[in-house]
Amino acid sequence: MLDTSQLKTESQILDDFMRVVIQRNPAETEFHQAVLEFAKDVLPFVAENPEYQGANLSQRLTEPDRVITFRVTWEDDDGKIHVNRGYRIQHCNAIGPYKGGLRFHPSVSLSVLKFLAFEQTFKNSLTGLPMGGAKGGSDFDPKGKSDREIMRFCQSFMTELYRHIGPDTDVPAGDIGVGGREISYLFGQYKRLVNQFTGVLTGKSMEFGGSQIRPEATGYGTIYFMEDMLRHKGQSIKGKTCLVSGSGNVAQFAVEKLIQHGAKPVTMSDSSGFIHDPAGIDNEKLTWITELKNVRRGRISEYAEKYGVEYFPGQRPWSIPCDLAFPCATQNEVNREDAKTLVGNGCIGISEGANMPSDMEAIDVYLEAKILYGPAKAANAGGVAISGLEMSQNSLRMSWTRETLNDHLGDIMRNIHESCLEHGTEPDGYVNYLRGANIAGFKKVANALLAYGVV
Ligand code: NDP
Repeated sequence: MLDTSQLKTESQILDDFMRVVIQRNPAETEFHQAVLEFAKDVLPFVAENPEYQGANLSQRLTEPDRVITFRVTWEDDDGKIHVNRGYRIQHCNAIGPYKGGLRFHPSVSLSVLKFLAFEQTFKNSLTGLPMGGAKGGSDFDPKGKSDREIMRFCQSFMTELYRHIGPDTDVPAGDIGVGGREISYLFGQYKRLVNQFTGVLTGKSMEFGGSQIRPEATGYGTIYFMEDMLRHKGQSIKGKTCLVSGSGNVAQFAVEKLIQHGAKPVTMSDSSGFIHDPAGIDNEKLTWITELKNVRRGRISEYAEKYGVEYFPGQRPWSIPCDLAFPCATQNEVNREDAKTLVGNGCIGISEGANMPSDMEAIDVYLEAKILYGPAKAANAGGVAISGLEMSQNSLRMSWTRETLNDHLGDIMRNIHESCLEHGTEPDGYVNYLRGANIAGFKKVANALLAYGVV
């Protein structure tokens, strides 16, 4: 007879697994959070599918292939010398060259980049394109720096990073604090160091190998994913009141697509606070925000002065009643209380433009309330998908039209949605998109690792 006292429950398996992860990566709280969010779905899936057992895949996938840290020394406009820390986490190249953004922000740490690289591996798998997962960056703060200071920092950063990347090895892109200006400086220095013009970075300008739609792709994709989720329920985005956080790359293009598709975005934010415009942010106001943020590099509070609306300093927008919410700023910007407020105010769907913007307790609130929840690794995969297509265009030495790439983006988001339905639909018809994304993302990477044997 089977001795049931010997069988571990699902929660014991999860606790034992997380104990090892925490012991091996002490104090890396964001990394623990990302692994836990994944393991909650994937460990039970492995327990039910013997073909994924016996290869210690879970531990292999929580240990990055390689962690690189380095000193970045640079000189400011007054001749003062500064030292920052640079990183590249090459998490897993089972299904393609490492791929993932660079983040320049004072909050950058090993823990933050390890969580982002871990998530990136499964997000890239979901896109269906051959890309492994990585992330990098620095604790450098671009705010308040002159263009020349940004250039000197980027050149110094690339003077070490170039040894570790390459078009078939690792292809970085942008993320928080790294946009077109920074990618241009980084690419210029790479090209000078290796004396080769190759597609080693994505998010480049159109003049030197960039792709149409790349700046737009993450924000647009996040909205496409929400539309796919709504369509599956027989609803549409038209006329819906929407909260957006952030006012950077992802937020700007999310708002643009919401306006185009007849929704009403009413908030945007930055790290100092948020604005609420009950009449809705329209194209003219968005153009003004784009100039404010991308050219003048000002604060969102100026919008309130310009358009006579309310500004909420030091707050996030989740207390405003809405139909849909799009967190597009940073990690852990929606907590349990925020989530309860959103649901209580009638919010029926969340699509995450940012990475891990909802903490574990917020996610529990969404899933318990059975509202639509598009997790980051699915909902914001559009950016890296078009980056993957920028790599293809660079290899082919050609460029595709905006229309072609926008169609590809729509198809890729729809395929990701389908994969989530396949693995996340519950007996009562509710779709747990987080579980769907976790399992679909895991399977492809796991199948590759099994095929390679013990490497
Ligand atoms: P940007 O640097 O262009 O914009 C970031 C925005 O978020 C700014 O408005 C910034 O405000 C705000 N923000 C940053 N940190 C904080 C914070 N700690 N608290 C409150 N607000 C904050 O970055 P992106 O738009 O590129 O990235 C936004 C999110 O989307 C990130 O989570 C990123 O990882 C994710 N993402 C981005 C992709 C891309 O293609 N760019 C792809 C996939 C995911 P402020 O100006 O005051 O700093």
